[in-house]
Amino acid sequence: MRQVVMEYNRRQFGRVFGTVVGGFALAGWSESLIASTTESYLVRKGDTLWSIANKFGLGVRDLKSQNGLSSSVIHVGQRLRIPGLTSTIRRNIGHPGVKRSKWKRIIVHHSGTAVGDAKSFHNFHKRKMENGLAYHFVICNGSTKTTRDGQIEVGPRWKRQIQGGHVRGLKYNANSVGICLVGNFEKTRPTAKQLDALNKLTQYLHVNLFSKRTTVIGHKDLQGQKTVCPGKYFPLKAYRSRFA
Ligand SMILES: [Zn+2]
Repeated sequence: MRQVVMEYNRRQFGRVFGTVVGGFALAGWSESLIASTTESYLVRKGDTLWSIANKFGLGVRDLKSQNGLSSSVIHVGQRLRIPGLTSTIRRNIGHPGVKRSKWKRIIVHHSGTAVGDAKSFHNFHKRKMENGLAYHFVICNGSTKTTRDGQIEVGPRWKRQIQGGHVRGLKYNANSVGICLVGNFEKTRPTAKQLDALNKLTQYLHVNLFSKRTTVIGHKDLQGQKTVCPGKYFPLKAYRSRFA
């Protein structure tokens, strides 16, 4: 399968989107989920801050700051605020079919377009690739009628655990999880809600599902890609170091 043209053919994509995509009805093939929630958790015997953080795909530091804790001491019966992915999305992403050892890296992209969502990218990608939507996940910016800012869309390739089509080269696509944030980050910054959703999604994948065996990078970090993706306004250094 050849590398998709999306990264260097934005102009054409913009035209396709403007004339065609607006007419499509949602087919319901991707799960669209709001990432952020605040649940509460009752501390049980044997729990540690680390085990609770891990259970919910959070960093210990996040858990402490969310609960105003100055030390790591917790007590049985204490109620903690759990910011993060909802249990629905955790179940959806961490489904029983996930091939945990298959994935070696998580690669973040921008769409290079101001507007879009999983469905519109799918309709564009399927002209070149039989499996359509090249990414495993799309994080929306609320630019389409059916999506909201910070919403995570889980694509069919993740459900089926098949290779992506989001980078150049089969050897990388075969074992790289692709996350695309909608936006052109050569021109604008990602929204705060998109970054929040990205951090929570990455944390969940990297820590919970992959036990930190994956590397977390931007598209342009990958060898031989010749791209500016995910754009100069994406905080790539901070993102990489957060999950290093
Ligand atoms: Zn890219």
